[in-house]
Amino acid sequence: MYLDALAEYQKQREEGTLKAEAKEPQWREWNIPTLRQPCIQANVNVVQLEAATDSTVDYWLKVSTLTFRKQLLIPVVLANYHKIQLTDPHTGKRRKINSSVALNKRAGAWWLTLTYDEEILPETRNDAPVIGIDVGIANFITTSDGKQYGSFNGRMKERNRQDREKRRRKAKLRACLKKKGVPKEKLPSTTSRTGQRLIRHIKQSINRTVNLCFEEHEGCQFAYEQLSVPSMRFKARAMNAYLRASNLAHIPVQLEWNATKRGVTATKVKSAYSSQECHVCHSIDRKNRPNQQTFCCRVCGHTTHADTNAAQNIASRLGDRELRACQDRHQIKALLLLRHEQWKQEFRFLVVEPPVQLDLWACSEMSTDVG
Ligand SMILES: [Zn+2]
Repeated sequence: MYLDALAEYQKQREEGTLKAEAKEPQWREWNIPTLRQPCIQANVNVVQLEAATDSTVDYWLKVSTLTFRKQLLIPVVLANYHKIQLTDPHTGKRRKINSSVALNKRAGAWWLTLTYDEEILPETRNDAPVIGIDVGIANFITTSDGKQYGSFNGRMKERNRQDREKRRRKAKLRACLKKKGVPKEKLPSTTSRTGQRLIRHIKQSINRTVNLCFEEHEGCQFAYEQLSVPSMRFKARAMNAYLRASNLAHIPVQLEWNATKRGVTATKVKSAYSSQECHVCHSIDRKNRPNQQTFCCRVCGHTTHADTNAAQNIASRLGDRELRACQDRHQIKALLLLRHEQWKQEFRFLVVEPPVQLDLWACSEMSTDVG
């Protein structure tokens, strides 16, 4: 930038086209940002972890520097729980540590992050009973066998409300100060520490919830909703939709992680209309849910907890090839309507009214042919 401007200036001066008010470009020192939380993420070319053979430390971390053949050697001593974590319980040997490492400086101390690959064989049998999972706010998880785990309501809801108020006040203050001409960098920040803490707290509580659900359903396989952000926002519409949606999104992530870790099969299924569809007769109607918790079918009268009904639908969608083949919501709706019609044929309208049929025969040309 500076060099370009300078060249332009000199050229104009030589040509005599320089404007009177033009000034010679000045070199300004770069405004280099300082790192608040340094983090080095490096592969084997830059940082190498080597097992120490002749020393009291466990590893040496060799960090390359810009000087040729000059390396920094950092001793790495493992605590006991690190050693347990890095030992394969099946073979009793040290696991193979991945070559990429990360170094983070947090609160004045450096932290080394090591990773290893673990191969977990799927343990679920194909004929394992299917448990459907419905994700929500009132209950984080509702299973198709009618159990409920965790909730956003209660204390977390209250903390969320307080945090929102606090942020709103801060935003007001910010706007006010801005009007008065306070420079941008001096304005109070709108992100709140309590808000961050709350998000962390919710995540932890989701993790516990998912863990418990897996523990209580040993030997089962899971089907869960393929949630998209818009549908989550719909689920979380009550208040502060975005924050809640981002938290809800953590549930499927945690489900997937738990399933992988435990070698349990968990399959995503399409969730369109799963909360409106009657599990018995497949009728879809928003009015099937007179309130948030209750499902009461307006056709067949099937009544249960709304989330349980949704979880049951999700469970039965696992092996549902026809539904899987559907491309979008419209196709799913059409399929469910067709199934509802079939249900009606089977259970409701077994009796075909004879007079109508007779009339039809009388009017049609076929009847004369047959006769
Ligand atoms: Zn029904």
